[in-house]
Amino acid sequence: MSNNQILGSIDHDKCKVADEICLPDSEQPRIVIVGGGFAGLALVEGLKNKNVQIVLIDRNNFHQFQPLFYQVATSGLEPDSIVFPFRKQIKGYKNVSFRLAEVREIQASTNTVITDKGKLTYDYLVLATGTKTNFFGMEEVERNSLGMKDIRDSLNIRHMMLQNLEQAAITCDDVERDALTNFVIVGGGPAGVEMAGALAEFCKYILPKDYPEYPSSIMNIFLVEAMDKLLIAMSDKASSRTLTYLENLNVTVLLNESVSNYDGKVVQTKNGKRILAKNLIWTAGVKGDFPKGIDQKHVAKGNRLKTDAYLKVEGQENIYAIGDIAALISEETPIGHPQVAQAAIQQGNYLAQMLNNLNNNIPSKSFKYTDKGSLATVGKRKAVADLGKLKFTGYFAWLLWSVVHLMSISGFRNKLLVGFNWAISYFSYEKSNRVIIRNFKRDSTTETPSKNNTNNALEKDKNIQKTQH
Ligand SMILES: Cc1cc2nc3c(=O)[nH]c(=O)nc-3n(C[C@H](O)[C@H](O)[C@H](O)COP(=O)(O)OP(=O)(O)OC[C@H]3O[C@@H](n4cnc5c(N)ncnc54)[C@H](O)[C@@H]3O)c2cc1C
Repeated sequence: MSNNQILGSIDHDKCKVADEICLPDSEQPRIVIVGGGFAGLALVEGLKNKNVQIVLIDRNNFHQFQPLFYQVATSGLEPDSIVFPFRKQIKGYKNVSFRLAEVREIQASTNTVITDKGKLTYDYLVLATGTKTNFFGMEEVERNSLGMKDIRDSLNIRHMMLQNLEQAAITCDDVERDALTNFVIVGGGPAGVEMAGALAEFCKYILPKDYPEYPSSIMNIFLVEAMDKLLIAMSDKASSRTLTYLENLNVTVLLNESVSNYDGKVVQTKNGKRILAKNLIWTAGVKGDFPKGIDQKHVAKGNRLKTDAYLKVEGQENIYAIGDIAALISEETPIGHPQVAQAAIQQGNYLAQMLNNLNNNIPSKSFKYTDKGSLATVGKRKAVADLGKLKFTGYFAWLLWSVVHLMSISGFRNKLLVGFNWAISYFSYEKSNRVIIRNFKRDSTTETPSKNNTNNALEKDKNIQKTQH
């Protein structure tokens, strides 16, 4: 130890460059994977203990199980039962390192990625960065509504909902109470449908018990969909049955309607409807989310990266894209593969095999997707399933949905937690504790105005019905 060394620090020469991310020395080719979602994790699993060095980078230190976000948002599950730490996942994988960082830029000419914590070099780079919420350029809608693309979004929705219900019990103003207890969900895909179903059950079974001050009819749920049917990617049978299930749960479904603006209190649609609501949940679209450094000409619709049949990003030698961010455009898939977990997992598995082959000079076949079918649930005990030619709905579809989701959650403990919660709520309709642990605040520009302003604003809204044509 040198005389000048600070106690507690050791003399080592691994991190020679101050702004480099420190990694174990290795002679093996280095594969940097950005994003530990379904695609990135499948790739890690396929390359573990192989003759390559894997560096997994993610801006979170955990994997998120997005299909159950809506259950966290509606207090059905606690957040830690659907997220899983990467370090636990990679325990015992000798060739895999995890680094918590956000990749900001790719410098392909020098095989370098720049992160918020430093830079690192790669032999192969895999982008598995997924998507983010797409508000289609409507800034006011974005500022005033909540998306559902991250576990924090789910918690924000939960807190917004519980705070607004508490505030509704406090206020003596009828219009304000309506606004606080009306919910608008935008987007009739699986995320929107499942959210609407769960909220409707909350309203039916939890509201009367927790909030005896007001009847359950006070909470109105609107589902707004721009197309003429729900679950557009599924069969007509699945769509029409879903509509019936939701209507039976008193959800108002507005088809052929799209939201044009939202100021935090009144939702406006392109066809001129106005809905009074202080709760707007946006599930109507996503767009690819990747660091800068890829030429725009290689970007497809939806901000996805165009790849060849081996998932290599167009125009790049050693950069690949998998999962939601990848668009493999072919005659069979003119807009790329569906942005679902199965496609992401299959691409991760495929690329693991492909990179292994490449490392051992073995030729690979191109990627082929196997569609294993689609499922969506509407509240408890009802779901719709399209499995190839087999299409069924109701209780059996719901059982299948439950098993498939339970099996797909990472970690034994998480499976146990989710299974236990579901078992309790199956018999009792009881959900997790509905506690407001942190105060949810909107963007400061839409913070609750002073009392006088609020009253003036509400005065103006006295004429707005729950929906106004
Ligand atoms: C609410 C909701 C419900 C859904 N329900 C279903 C369903 O029922 N069935 C189904 O099949 N699919 C469903 N999906 C879609 C499914 O979740 C996605 O298709 C899947 O997650 C895509 O996996 P991925 O690995 O490509 O990306 P993701 O799972 O989104 O993972 C991307 C990862 O990259 C990380 N990341 C992103 N950018 C950076 C960066 N610059 N630096 C570092 N890290 C970064 C993120 O933190 C994240 O961990 C749902 C999606 C949502 C939002």
